[in-house]
Amino acid sequence: MSLIIYLDGNYVPEEEAKVSVFDHGLLYGDGVFEGIRAYHNRVFKLHDHLVRIYESAKTIGLVIPMTLEELQEAVLETLRRNGLRDGYVRLVVTRGKGDLGLDPNKCPRATVFVIAASIVLYPDEFYENGLKLITVSTRRNRADAINPRVKSLNYLNNIYAKMEANLAGVLEAIMLTNEGFVAEATGDNVFIVKNGVLITPPVYMGILQGITRDVVMELARDAGIPVEETVFTLHDLYNADECFLTGTAAEVIPSVNVDGRVIGDGKPGKITNQLIKAFHKLTETDGPVIFND
Ligand code: PMP
Repeated sequence: MSLIIYLDGNYVPEEEAKVSVFDHGLLYGDGVFEGIRAYHNRVFKLHDHLVRIYESAKTIGLVIPMTLEELQEAVLETLRRNGLRDGYVRLVVTRGKGDLGLDPNKCPRATVFVIAASIVLYPDEFYENGLKLITVSTRRNRADAINPRVKSLNYLNNIYAKMEANLAGVLEAIMLTNEGFVAEATGDNVFIVKNGVLITPPVYMGILQGITRDVVMELARDAGIPVEETVFTLHDLYNADECFLTGTAAEVIPSVNVDGRVIGDGKPGKITNQLIKAFHKLTETDGPVIFND
């Protein structure tokens, strides 16, 4: 069945949802995006996603031609028009149509679109038994180049890393910073648990400030679990008691094997499972309602 897409103020069937071949989002990866999840007739952490896209846009000097409230309504209405109470939303703002040069000043108006669809990412068995990961040679972008905190349309570096994961026959990969510290996965943040402390890399070292990451840290603190944002190496990861990844699409997913090293006892850990449960509970009540029925 054809989806209804929000595109620059209109709701159109997907066959009609077209952007120009001169759009700098396509020509140069010049734009920003969000992946957002709807659960139980609510859009989880929608406000945080909207704030993040405005911040990403500000850093790349892109003016989103709508208020945050209008953008929020576009997300909710796209879900409504597709009859979705649960699903995945892709919100994209590109630099818009310009000429064949790089100059963003030649792009008078940003292109905004919203796709609401369903999603299945990893099979259930991985949530129950844990993911196998490898470390790839592709390094995460340096924070002093395109800062990974900008959720830009320029994902080629992460695609390189994903290709390495594909070659190795695993579903996700750990990327290091230029200095060799653990950064994040290709589309998820990484956490370890050691001696009861939850540890994740700090955002300033060059990672996306994941919204699921922030949620999980808050849930942990609420549960009395100490949380540290600190740099760590592969040695710390291999010797962790538990490891998991977080992301809007992946949610909270355990990892039990990294580069052939078994993590902890080889099963998803106690704190990981506790946080998975707390995360799912929060999705029942957080975020604006889609259908008022
Ligand atoms: N890191 C990267 C590189 C990502 O692309 C994403 C989002 N897919 C994440 C982390 C997780 O962020 P969030 O929890 O906001 O989805």
